[in-house]
Amino acid sequence: MSEVKERSTIASCSFCRKPNSEVEKLVAGPGVFICDGCVALAAQVIAGATSTSAESGESAESGESAWDSPVAPWDREMSLDAVLATLGSVAAAGEQAERNLALWVAKARSLGATWSQIGQALGMARQSAWERFSGEE
Ligand SMILES: [Zn+2]
Repeated sequence: MSEVKERSTIASCSFCRKPNSEVEKLVAGPGVFICDGCVALAAQVIAGATSTSAESGESAESGESAWDSPVAPWDREMSLDAVLATLGSVAAAGEQAERNLALWVAKARSLGATWSQIGQALGMARQSAWERFSGEE
């Protein structure tokens, strides 16, 4: 158990922002991460949504569902405090994704990728990729 606490922070859950040193497992996606706790919560949400729609036979029982707009949560009715609290999480997830992108680009470079190849993979010009990721001026 102490071994877990002594691990250094490599990445944080993109959902709850807990570092890998504070969770049991951290699963990596493309530049994002999710912890075992958030996976369990997501599983509950999915199981709950499935049983609700199966039991009621209707897609929306009340207008209060937090899942009316799952892909655009900013369209939900939220208090200013809740929105402000979310801004920090979104920014932190974005910063982590940006750091990960830089690490993936470095990995591609170490495998011999040209800036032209990296630019093409990212849908940007070779020069833009170099300026953004080379660390040179
Ligand atoms: Zn989490």
